Parts: sequence; C-alpha cells; structure tokens
Amino acid sequence: MSEFPSSSAVTVLGLGPMGRALASAFLDAGVRTTVWNRTPGRDGELVARGAVAAASPEEAVAAAPLTVVCVVNYDASDAVLRRTAVATALKGRTVVNLSADTPARARDTADWAARHGVHYLDGAIMTPTPTIGTADAVFLHSGPAERYEEHRAVLAALGGTHTHLGEDTGRAAAYDIALLDIFWTAMAGYTHALALARAEGVTGAELAPFAEGIAAILPPLFTEFAADADAGTYSGELNPITSAASTMTHVVHASESHGIDASVMRVIEGQARRVIALGHGTDGYTRVGELIGRR
Ligand code: NDP
Repeated sequence: MSEFPSSSAVTVLGLGPMGRALASAFLDAGVRTTVWNRTPGRDGELVARGAVAAASPEEAVAAAPLTVVCVVNYDASDAVLRRTAVATALKGRTVVNLSADTPARARDTADWAARHGVHYLDGAIMTPTPTIGTADAVFLHSGPAERYEEHRAVLAALGGTHTHLGEDTGRAAAYDIALLDIFWTAMAGYTHALALARAEGVTGAELAPFAEGIAAILPPLFTEFAADADAGTYSGELNPITSAASTMTHVVHASESHGIDASVMRVIEGQARRVIALGHGTDGYTRVGELIGRR
C-alpha cells in the first residue's frame, strides 16, 4: 500500500537515465507521476507502469504541484522551464531542479523563478541511478526551507537520505561541484594508474586490491585535512611536502619513460614545488590549498 496520500502527484521533466530512475521511484512509491522528455519515446516503460505521458512541458507541469527537473545541465533546464507557456503554468507551483550545474546557474534560476512567481528549490544527486529508490541514494537540497518542508514527504519517495543545506539556493550545487571535483580527479588518477601499471606488466585485476587499500586510507585523511584547511594549519610532521613531491616526480618519470602522458601529475608536482619554493617545505601536502586559493 502507498505511504502517500492519493492526492500526491509529481511531474518529472527529463527522461535520461537519471530522470527515468526518479520517475520509476515515484511510481514504486505510489505517487501519481506525469512525465515529459524533449525527445519522445523515452517514457514507454514508465507509462506501462502507470505514468501519465504529457504532450508538452506546460501540460506536464500543470499536472502536479511539484515538478522535478533532471536534464543534462542548466542550459537544458532553461530551454525547458523558461518557455512562456511553461513559466505561466508553473506560477504558484514548485520546481525542484536536480540537474547538475554551477552554484551561479542555480542562483540565477532561483532569480528567474522569483520573477515569475514560481517556487524554486535546487538540488543535487550524489549517487548513481541504481541507488535511486533505495537506502543508498543521496540527495542534497537548498533553497527556501518552507518549500522543502512542504514537499519533503513526496521527495522521500526517491529513497535514501535527503539533506537540506540552507536557504542559499546555490549551496547544493556548491557541495555538488566540490564533491565532483574529488570524484573526477580520483577517477583521472586511477585511470592513469591503470595505464602506468599495464605498461609495467601489472594487470588491472592485480592492482585493484591494492588500489582499494589506497582508497581506504582516504576517509580519515579527508576529515583530518578538512580540519587543517579550516584552521589554516598544515603540519607536515609525518609526511613533509618535500617527501611527497619526490614521489610525484617518480610517477612523472616512470610515466614518461613509457610514453604515457604525465601532464596531470606534472601540474600536481609543480604546485608542490611552488609551496616548497615559498619556504613551506616542512608543511604537509595540503598547504597547496593555500597556494591555489590565492588570487
Ligand atoms: P544526461 O546528463 O545525459 O541528461 C539527459 C537528459 O537531458 C535527457 O532527458 C535529455 O533529453 C535532456 N536534455 C539534454 N539537452 C536538452 C535540451 N537542450 N533541452 C531539453 N532537454 C535536454 O543523463 P542523466 O539522466 O543520467 O542525467 C541527468 C542529470 O542528473 C545530469 O545533470 C547529471 O549530471 C545528473 N546525475 C546523473 C547521475 C547518473 O548516474 N546518471 C548521477 C548523479 C547526477 P533528450 O532525451 O531529448 O536528449
């Protein structure tokens, strides 16, 4: 039996992999779900499961008090939301934009919404599509707390944890880009490591268990380094940046000996060397954050 009142209804705009996962979770939870996508034909499975297919985005948003948008970026969400007919139909209703983009774009969209009498919440999804509707999903939200409280019960149908980060509409996107920064630089590092290991005759399968060991070192370091960054203290007692830079140089040399592009590690090593040249050689690696944060 559904945990939502029969009056609960939501519209999902955007039926890429993530939009389809969101709509599917709403349907699973018994929320009346209307869907629309720019390119027709992506709603077949959802409609078979009870979703209502709208012929236009204005028809879609008129079908529910809450619209969830999930498209590639804010150029795309602007292209959908900022049509006159859509803005008119949205007046007095709430949009939650779960598309990814920058904090500035999120705030700009909130300004647009305010000018058009549309209630606006921004959000970010921090986990992949298979997690949606499960306990593993992670959603971040920002914008007016009153609107978030109004719709949180329906949003809870998406599963996982939902965190409201504050009234500043850009805050969810700020967390999102910072977390994406971690994710993509880590992926770049791992992809490079696999290529370097392969050049040395080590397979991915052979390296992977040890790579997991490296990943396991990181969570406590994240906490420790965050405290350092907040306090502006960069103790290098256990691993001074001079020692760290030396290991970076080894990666550059080994990569380039195999003709493997080492430009990312060269940048990282260069930053560490600049910190040393500025007289901070006994500090820890995270002193780099001070260097790159300078204007
Ligand atoms: P995409 O990022 O590829 O987005 C596809 C959707 O964007 C489709 O509905 C597509 O419509 C729509 N779109 C693109 N350009 C336009 C446009 N100009 N006007 C209207 N619609 C447009 O796939 P996902 O569904 O996976 O991602 C959606 C959002 O969710 C992204 O911001 C992504 O970063 C975020 N996200 C995704 C995760 C994932 O695991 N997939 C994880 C966390 C966040 P059409 O079919 O017509 O091309």
